[in-house]
Amino acid sequence: MIRISELALSLEHTPEQLRDAVIKRLQIPADALLDMLVFKRSYDARKKNTEITFVYILHVTVKDETKVLARFADDQHVRPAPDTEYHPVGHAPAGLTERPLVVGFGPCGLFAALLLAQMGFKPIVLERGKEVRQRTKDTWALWRNKVLSPESNVQFGEGGAGLFSDGKLYSQIKDPKFYGRKVMQEFVRAGAPEEILYVSKPHIGTFRLTGVVSAMREEIKALGGEVRFEQKVTDLLLKDDQIEGVVLANGEVLHSRHVVMALGHSARDTFRMLHSREVFMEAKPFAIGFRIEHPQSLIDKARLGKYAGHDALGAADYKLVYHAKNGRAVYSFCMCPGGTVVAATSEPERVVTNGMSQYSRNERNANAGIVVGINPNEDFPGNPLGGIEFQEQLESRAYELGGKDYCAPGQLVGDFIRGKASTTLGDVEPSYKPGVLLGDLAPSLPEYAITAIREALPAFGKQIRGFDRPDAVLTGVETRTSSPVRITRDNDSLQSLNVRGLFPAGEGAGYAGGILSAGVDGVRIAEAVARSMLENA
Ligand code: FAD
Repeated sequence: MIRISELALSLEHTPEQLRDAVIKRLQIPADALLDMLVFKRSYDARKKNTEITFVYILHVTVKDETKVLARFADDQHVRPAPDTEYHPVGHAPAGLTERPLVVGFGPCGLFAALLLAQMGFKPIVLERGKEVRQRTKDTWALWRNKVLSPESNVQFGEGGAGLFSDGKLYSQIKDPKFYGRKVMQEFVRAGAPEEILYVSKPHIGTFRLTGVVSAMREEIKALGGEVRFEQKVTDLLLKDDQIEGVVLANGEVLHSRHVVMALGHSARDTFRMLHSREVFMEAKPFAIGFRIEHPQSLIDKARLGKYAGHDALGAADYKLVYHAKNGRAVYSFCMCPGGTVVAATSEPERVVTNGMSQYSRNERNANAGIVVGINPNEDFPGNPLGGIEFQEQLESRAYELGGKDYCAPGQLVGDFIRGKASTTLGDVEPSYKPGVLLGDLAPSLPEYAITAIREALPAFGKQIRGFDRPDAVLTGVETRTSSPVRITRDNDSLQSLNVRGLFPAGEGAGYAGGILSAGVDGVRIAEAVARSMLENA
């Protein structure tokens, strides 16, 4: 197979024109092109007011491949296609009695369990939250009625933190073994749109993701795995430096010498339990800030120029970075085109913001986190759990500033920059439910973060005209941008540095940030567990 990269065509091209372009590029007769797969399609918007083009990576099968490749030996955009197929590391031997435990059923735990099940290891999944339908009801109870279920919410339950989200499925991780492709292929098999396999910034959206996750759960069960909900792990069974099992909140004990901990970034009680059991962990950098909302049309215009609103391009996104004079980096985080800001706390009397969207991305506003980098050595030195305590303080303060009923404190950008409390909205209506209480956001974050964001917003306004418009709305606080701890693992075995058989995984362990990278880490961890079980079988 041959890989052609950097093949550009107009937005309106037909499938026939794509085929013709390949034939022309390879200088082959039409009947020599046997097969063609779109591997990736992005768009180039650098000339947004003259012509935006699609740019392709294609995998093609041709007659006389060796000859064609020889002809293009010096052309870096015509190369042999890499092997992107997934190859499992082994299969469980017949009669194996030990079953691996997977704690947490977010994208990381889901893929770890799915891969283990596909390799015949019959994993048992333990998830503290509820199955997807019940969880959806519980989550809406907070958004509509201000009732929080601490074990079933935006962070906890089947599908993990990524379930009520924009469902963005891209990441900047290095992925030489194409595990990301395996993740995408499994999503598509479970009902996600096929285009996620090739568009450059794929997304599923909340509604579709819920169906995909339950289909994947059914596959794990069909392959002999078990998925148990409302089963919180509250302790470890340890013998010397080896894990032997886990204890559940209901007192049940489950034995296994292979335990995946895919907890996500919000399992603060479980982090504390692991720390008290002396599992090695360290504080890691994360970021804090606000959500910002603008009309989506403003972002489309700035990013796509005369192509704003073009069907083939959809709602536009952005990515912004600014280095403030006080040394802090301010950047946009988890941008959700055409989406809504959501209440994302898992704990009573705390307020946390995040963003989500549906597949169509057709809500009125664009939203994104505007966050400031936090560094443990500078901001909470010497305490592995210091970041968690810091997040808790900020989220409790936001709850108070929001009126103590899960509304979020908010402020207009113009007022925030001038240091004046807001009293009335302009044209931008905030989407956060159950509601926004306008006021002054300055007391919600440390002074260095407020100063850095005040400086960054006008600078962002130079990159996206109108970004700092006075009636854009900020809501607070965004604190759970990534895990505040790393449960450090050994690079080869992927086991905890000091507890054998314990496999810290995904975002909570500090090894992923986002749905795709958490899924990829799940694949990696499944392989590490399988290797260890095969060695010890
Ligand atoms: P999680 O998804 O957090 O899953 C961990 C699971 O472990 C949870 O279900 C939890 O209930 C369970 N658990 C925790 N402790 C225990 C215990 N003691 N016992 C049993 N179970 C336990 N990322 C993107 O890439 N794109 C997006 O568009 C996007 N949007 C987001 C929107 C929102 C509102 C949120 C909250 C996050 C979003 N993210 C997004 C981030 C993404 O969801 C996470 O990076 C990803 O879910 C991490 O996967 P994970 O499996 O490591 O952890």
